[in-house]
This record gives sequence, structure tokens and C-alpha cells, in this order.
Amino acid sequence: MKIRDILAREKVTLSFEVFPPKLGMPFEPIVGAVDRLCQSKPDFMSVTYGAGGGTGHNTVKIAAHVQNDLGVTSLAHLTCVSSTRQQVASAIEDIKAAGIENILALRGDLPKDGNYPVGEYYRYASELVAEIKQYGDFCIGAACYPEGHVECSHKEDDIANLKQKVDSGVDFLTPQLFFDNNVLYNFLYRIRERGITVPVIAGIMPITNAKQISRAVELSGTYVPTRFKAIVDKFGENPAAMKQAGIAYATDQIIDLVANGIKAIHIYTMNKPDVAESIRQNLSHIIGNEQ
Ligand code: FAD
Repeated sequence: MKIRDILAREKVTLSFEVFPPKLGMPFEPIVGAVDRLCQSKPDFMSVTYGAGGGTGHNTVKIAAHVQNDLGVTSLAHLTCVSSTRQQVASAIEDIKAAGIENILALRGDLPKDGNYPVGEYYRYASELVAEIKQYGDFCIGAACYPEGHVECSHKEDDIANLKQKVDSGVDFLTPQLFFDNNVLYNFLYRIRERGITVPVIAGIMPITNAKQISRAVELSGTYVPTRFKAIVDKFGENPAAMKQAGIAYATDQIIDLVANGIKAIHIYTMNKPDVAESIRQNLSHIIGNEQ
């Protein structure tokens, strides 16, 4: 099923995210986590693409398992910056052959040597979106950055680039994680004003250990509200308490989003079925359990 059709339904949708095994790592523990996550009946499940592109086959393998064996719609992430155009073409063919209809088209992070892609490589995700459209009727998602992408010096330029990306054929957007919902509300106001009208799926990351927050902030540069800082300061050294507080904070964020009219919630479940189940349970009368 195409995610654009899922998003067109009247109800609030809830989706999860998993990451595939790194090269040389066993599949079984991840497949076990994915199977259990699917028992919570997400509306769809996204599967990330390892940085540098080396684990692309694993992304397709897990996404195909989710869709074909577990009956849950899957969304395969695909990055393009560290693969040649030919490698990207072959990755799209693999996704198509596996029967996956949804792709999150991403540029990926720039190579560490600082070289900007030229020639045989794609420069921007918008070029990948246009390329995917040549392969048939995929539903295509893309990333967006409510606080601005790190490489773009002005938020308005970032939104102009986003508009160009959406116009190249994007069906929905997923923002970078945020811990303050006002960041999303403000962004939605600005993009709608610029004519970007596709659905935006709000991505929430439950922080269940103190290390995770520093990594999440390091990678995204997102603003951490004082209320959340206090939680990490108080409970960061107590794993069980931090997990409980992190699940409660994520639940609270989702309730506020739904109360303010957001219809699509994505949880960065990070292969942790217990966290997903707790949040699902907390929302049982708010989102419901039916697919
Ligand atoms: P783009 O949309 O290409 O934007 C990159 C930069 O280029 C921005 O600063 C933008 O303003 C600028 N730009 C775009 N077009 C133009 C133009 N025409 N002219 C000038 N400047 C332009 N990474 C992974 O490796 N694997 C994953 O699975 C993954 N999943 C992600 C999921 C989400 C929801 C998000 C938010 C990010 C994810 N990422 C993932 C990280 C992503 O690859 C990086 O953030 C990357 O740096 C940018 O990717 P993009 O697709 O947003 O790039």
C-alpha cells in the first residue's frame, strides 16, 4: 500500500522506524525486534539506510520482510550521496523487485573527507526524487528540518530548497526529531505559507537513556527544552527511571501533537519493541489500535 493513501485516511496514523543490521552483524536479533514491533500494528514501518550506503541490501531485506512476511506496509530509506548513479539505479530496482512501494529519498551525509559530490554522483535529494519517478509509481517521502539543515546558513533558503524538492515529486515529508512541539508548529506555519502543502509526519524520538540524548543533539543540533534537560539531569544516572521518564515525555509530546491537529505520528522506535508497546498502550484511547 502507498503511504500517501494511508495518510489520506481520516484517522491519526502511527508508524515506527527500525534500522537494519550493520555489515557482518547477525540478522536474527533485528528480525526478532521487527517481528515484535509489527505485532503492535503500526500503519507502516520505515527502515533506515546505513550511513555511507554500505548496508543498502540489508535495508531492502528487512523492508521486504516487514511488507511481504508480516503484512505491514514498509518504507525503505535510500541515500544517494555516497553511491554512483548506477549503484542508486540498481538499489531502486532492488526495492521495486521486492514489491516495496514507498521510498524515503535522502541525500545522506556528505563524505567525511569534505568532498562535495560531482559527476557520477547526485548532489541533492531532489535529484534522487526525480530519478525515482522514472521507475514507476512509487510513493516518495523526503526529509525536512524545522530548525534548518546544518549546512544551510539561512532557514528561508532551506525552505526554498525544500519547496524545489517537494515540487520534484515528493508525496510527504518527515522532519528531523524535535523535543519542543512549538518547533514543528512554527515550521508548519512557514512552509504552508511558502506553498508546501504535502502531509508532514511528525517524528518523535523517545529518549530512554542519557547517552542517547547527547548523540541525538550532536547529530541534529535540535533545541532541548529546559523541562527535558531537568528530566535528564534528575534521572540520567538511573536507567529504569530515565526509560520511564523518556516514554512519558514522548507520550506527552504525541498527545499534544494530536490535540493540535497533527494526523501522522512516527516513532523512532530504534528496534526497541518494549518502548513502542509502552507508548502504544499509553495512547490506546487517543490513537486506537486498529490499522
Ligand atoms: P537535501 O534535501 O539534498 O538537502 C541537503 C542540503 O542541501 C540542505 O542544506 C539543503 O538546504 C541544501 N540544498 C538542497 N537543494 C539545494 C539546491 N538546489 N541548491 C543549493 N542547496 C540545496 N541519513 C542516512 O544516511 N540514512 C537514513 O536512513 C536517514 N534517514 C533520515 C530520516 C529523516 C526523517 C531525516 C530528517 C534525516 C535522515 N537522514 C538519514 C539524514 C540525512 O541524510 C541528512 O540529514 C543529510 O545531511 C541531508 O539529507 P536530505 O535528503 O535532507 O538532503
